[in-house]
Amino acid sequence: MCPVRELKKIVEDVYYIPGRTNIGVIVRDNWCIVVDTGLDEDQGRRIINIVNDAGLKIKYIFNTHSHADHIGGNRIILDRCEANIISPSIESYFIENPVLEPIFLYGSYPPESMREKFFMAKPSKVYKTISEDVDGELDLRYVALAGHSFNMYGLVADDIFFIGDALFPENLVEKFKVLYHFNVREAVKTLSKLKEEDHKYYVPCHFDPASNIGNVINVNLNSIMKVRKLIEEHAQSKISFEELFSNILLELKLELSPPMYFLYSSALKSYISWLIDEKVIDGVYANGRLYLFRVK
Ligand SMILES: [Zn+2]
Repeated sequence: MCPVRELKKIVEDVYYIPGRTNIGVIVRDNWCIVVDTGLDEDQGRRIINIVNDAGLKIKYIFNTHSHADHIGGNRIILDRCEANIISPSIESYFIENPVLEPIFLYGSYPPESMREKFFMAKPSKVYKTISEDVDGELDLRYVALAGHSFNMYGLVADDIFFIGDALFPENLVEKFKVLYHFNVREAVKTLSKLKEEDHKYYVPCHFDPASNIGNVINVNLNSIMKVRKLIEEHAQSKISFEELFSNILLELKLELSPPMYFLYSSALKSYISWLIDEKVIDGVYANGRLYLFRVK
């Protein structure tokens, strides 16, 4: 294979294209599987050019999950290459109907500011969903990484583990303060599971590949537990849902645009479910508001 500057070698036949969303490239003969496709058409075009310059055709796209910054390049790759998309099952509904993503985050039909590329990619058809952990045809292993999205999966090729958005780097943890997890309780389990995995390299989507991710896992776990503790503290005495959210956002010194407010609300609600399910807090409706309070 010809050397292409933007294609970074991890081991023989396993590469990645660095960017705001790292793209995996797994080589088989003269074709490849790309792991995620970035935010938009420009990213998709860049992937096609880099891979073609290396003498490869894109035969498969593997989408770890359906967030817009992972599937935005799908459409142009499908239009220009004879490629097929593989994705986890629930994610496939969102990849094929991307308006579901802002609808889900907002909780109803979303305003125009959420119907744009950061929340909503162009639709693309999924060829097959993951039905078994081992894909004999492609010689890959899929690994469930529940929590961050509906049913995100990572992928292992030649002992290189593409982990999607299961982990965020320390600088993003500090910037965002509340990491987005669809099911934060499952995200904690996944982070603990990742600690037990042992692979040559881990390729996250938003920071450089690393052979040891133990410290980053702890940073992510600590961040989640910090937010959980904050909610527990603020619900010590009865507090309305709105006031609780406002207190947390103020304490974390977050300045948010309206779309980001809805995103954070969705993320924080996952913590509320976790605490209600563990019977740490409960809710009661009174005077037109939902109040939360500690039960243990
Ligand atoms: Zn994501």
